[in-house]
Amino acid sequence: MQIIDKIYIDGAFVTPHGEEYFDLFNPATEAVIGRVRLADAADADAAIAAAKRAFPAFSRATKAQRIEMLMALHEAVVAREDALFDAIVEEYGAPVSRGRWMAQHASSVLSDAAKTLENYAFTRRAGTAEVTMQPLGVAGLITPWNSDAGFICGKLAAALATGCTAVIKPSEMSAIQTRIVAEALHSAGLPAGLFNIVTGRGDIVGARIAEHPDVAKISFTGSTAVGKTILRTAAETLKRVTLELGGKSPVVVLDDANFDEAVPLALQAGFMNSGQACIAGTRILVPQSRLVEFEASVEKAVAQIQAGDPRDTHTSVGPMVSQKQWERVQRYIGIGIDEGARLIAGGAGRPDGIDSGWFVRPTVFSGVTNDMTIAREEIFGPVLSIIAYRDTEHAIEIANDTPYGLQAYVLSPDIERARRVAAQIEAGRVLVNTLTHEPAAPFGGFKQSGIGREYGTFGIEAFLEPKSTLGVF
Ligand code: NAD
Repeated sequence: MQIIDKIYIDGAFVTPHGEEYFDLFNPATEAVIGRVRLADAADADAAIAAAKRAFPAFSRATKAQRIEMLMALHEAVVAREDALFDAIVEEYGAPVSRGRWMAQHASSVLSDAAKTLENYAFTRRAGTAEVTMQPLGVAGLITPWNSDAGFICGKLAAALATGCTAVIKPSEMSAIQTRIVAEALHSAGLPAGLFNIVTGRGDIVGARIAEHPDVAKISFTGSTAVGKTILRTAAETLKRVTLELGGKSPVVVLDDANFDEAVPLALQAGFMNSGQACIAGTRILVPQSRLVEFEASVEKAVAQIQAGDPRDTHTSVGPMVSQKQWERVQRYIGIGIDEGARLIAGGAGRPDGIDSGWFVRPTVFSGVTNDMTIAREEIFGPVLSIIAYRDTEHAIEIANDTPYGLQAYVLSPDIERARRVAAQIEAGRVLVNTLTHEPAAPFGGFKQSGIGREYGTFGIEAFLEPKSTLGVF
């Protein structure tokens, strides 16, 4: 049982002003494994004040100094990789292969930002003017539970790369992972106040950060509903806002696809991170002419997918993070059945032989139409919909018929054809025959999947404001 009763403000671990305790669970066993004392609005204020004090000096740090700091943070997180991995598996329930990747991702985003920074020009010319990219000030970084360490480190890396200082508000459900990240970042020995970590409730600490006049920038990853609330609140003080929100990503299987390759890739895209991924490919668009063949191939492949104990190396789908999330996924499976979609794999309840833990059955519906609830709303669990299309034009129409636009996948051996389809899809990222991440490429959503971009140069510019100086040449 871990008791986490400290938050990180001004370079020190301190007891929060907030007094509420919140239980932390192992989602594979439903056991309470810890308790976290939550920060409140007064703690948010203290963290913001510390970041504000640190900003003037830090904003003048040279690029070389900031690269050095990012690399020190990178090394500090690398040094805690195993502890972080254990916490990710225990507190979040990530299957071990995924958990290892997540633990490594947390450190690599820091060195990736250092690399981007090396080649970034903060000063350039525009006509007769000199344009300087200037850091915005204090950045509020609000992150979800489905990749706690990765989001904390990724957002912090971009903020610090530019000279912004930060107040981080992680999910209250990830406090064990956050503690390890905070200890690692602290051990890098950066000046006090550059980053502050206040774990607390979203509607208290998150809301305070979003409204606070001394916060210049919000970078938020989470649900579309909360993103809209933050945008409304931030409007009062005209904060710059980056929102990374939900998705309902299409996987467009073109009619020339080789199903031996396309089916495993489509299922991996859908079931990644146990389905708790904003970029999950949850709508699989398949040519009507090959639907029967595709379904047969999916049925066979899903039978091989193991859902269960995240510590078993054969497991690829772990538990849902919480009971609430488990119930949400069960409700959507019920809605799919009620709406007349046809279950070809999985279904309600837990996988066979498992009677505790927030496990769900990897589920695939076919006969889904794009107007059904399961095709329109983000489920955030391993529940996929196969939607048949007539021709490529129809597939593109269905792919774009969604309020979201975060990511899309196109599967075809004909790269030129896939590229033409990709060009017509409204999404921040289109992956052709791959699931590989590219850290230099911008990431973010069209439409209601968000505003702005993270990663690479675009991610850095989200923390900068251009300033023109005229008459100096
Ligand atoms: P959430 O929106 O409920 O919470 C995200 C964060 O916002 C948490 O830290 C939460 O405490 C905080 N928050 C809640 N209410 C707030 C408020 N009123 N003001 C300020 N902060 C508040 O999301 P979640 O359930 O933690 O995560 C799942 C969601 O995140 C899914 O919808 C998923 O698609 C999305 N997500 C998006 C991306 C992306 O990059 N686009 C990545 C991962 C997850």
